[in-house]
Amino acid sequence: MIAKKWSAMTVEIISVGTEILLGNIVNTNAAYLSEKCAGLGLSCYYQDVVGDNEERLFETIKLALSRADILLLSGGLGPTQDDLTKEVAAKAFGKELYLHEETKEAIRKFFEERGLEITDNNWKQAMVPEGCIVMENPNGTAPGIIMAQDNKHVVLMPGPPNEMVPMFETSVMPYLSRLQSCVIYSQTVKICGVGESKAESMVSDLIAAQTNPTIATYAKTGEVHLRVTARAEDEKEARKLVKPMIKDLKGRFGNHVYTTDDEVTLEKAVVDLLAANKLTACTVESCTGGMLSARLINVPGVSEVFKTGYVTYSNKSKRRLLGIKKNILLKHGAVSEQIAREMAKTAAMLAKTDVCVSTTGIAGPDGGTPEKPVGLVYIGCNVRGKITVKECHFSGSRSKIRESTVSAALSLMRQCILEYYSEVTFGGKEK
Ligand code: ATP
Ligand code: MG
Repeated sequence: MIAKKWSAMTVEIISVGTEILLGNIVNTNAAYLSEKCAGLGLSCYYQDVVGDNEERLFETIKLALSRADILLLSGGLGPTQDDLTKEVAAKAFGKELYLHEETKEAIRKFFEERGLEITDNNWKQAMVPEGCIVMENPNGTAPGIIMAQDNKHVVLMPGPPNEMVPMFETSVMPYLSRLQSCVIYSQTVKICGVGESKAESMVSDLIAAQTNPTIATYAKTGEVHLRVTARAEDEKEARKLVKPMIKDLKGRFGNHVYTTDDEVTLEKAVVDLLAANKLTACTVESCTGGMLSARLINVPGVSEVFKTGYVTYSNKSKRRLLGIKKNILLKHGAVSEQIAREMAKTAAMLAKTDVCVSTTGIAGPDGGTPEKPVGLVYIGCNVRGKITVKECHFSGSRSKIRESTVSAALSLMRQCILEYYSEVTFGGKEK
């Protein structure tokens, strides 16, 4: 059998534009391309940002060609004088430009359809390097370009994300997939209720020894995702490599694993768990102000299980709507274990649901005290009268604290339901 190339092809991402160097725009193109390349199994070792300067761009392309198989450039394909990516890349590849009639026609049509006047410099965009592949740009006038020579591939894409992203998905991705001599398959183990550093330390031996498959950890708000990726001759082989690693990770993280399905979100896992146990649920929120119910309502089919979401932000509403006694509020304060418990208890009775989750906390930036600092949050979960309250300490901005609270509340819901129905405990198997 012919030996295949098992080492991943390497890619280098070059973002062109003085605006990026000056900090006027955020380089979202590079983040997007990096993520896509990782998904395709391409290794990215370098990213460059270079201004609209002929000499420095030429040097950057030359250097990238010396160390990567594929160069992905974005920006500088426009009609103006400072847009020079195509000219410089062609020069670095030793290619001349010629007028591409189809592109000229496409540009004419683009302007005509919008009732815009063509200026002479627009025709500059119809010039392409000899022997290249021209990629259509339905969202703009600059076509994309692919040049290939001596196993080196240079891809030029327009800078505006609304032009670059569709072009990458429609034209570049299929091209890159064809270059790969092997199949990449990955599966994700999604974990909640374990912090990022703890999760990473629990798999550090696997990461240190990884070859094929590899493991990458991604920290999300309140969750950690472990992505296991294998490369093999075909998908069946790759799946076979991934399977034992998934089993190992499930063993290590026990009940903290809420899914190994890429499509399942934490809120979907919670909704599925409620439905599987024929439970109804409601939320009663203070600091999250409806964000928790909104996350649950993201899930199609949630109406089977979700009944009501209360937002009781002020003390008065906690008293009037939920009937929480004034003296309890005065004694413990709204942000307290007792109030989280009262909220989860009273709202479940009001809405007549099996499960009720409550949130109360100090999201900041003001309102913290030494005893009750910003980021202190209590989350209550009532499953058929069995109430659990969790004290959390979050950090970051007001919105970050609120988002962390929502994820922790979903996690707690899942934990409490599982514990209610079995002898499951949430220690996880630690190594
Ligand atoms: P145009 O025809 O609009 O001039 P272009 O291909 O020449 O497109 P640039 O001039 O480099 O691209 O950038 C145009 C706009 O695209 C920028 O003002 C910015 O809004 C966006 N853009 C460019 N590069 C990036 C990037 N790396 N990340 C995010 N946005 C970008
Ligand atoms: Mg431009």
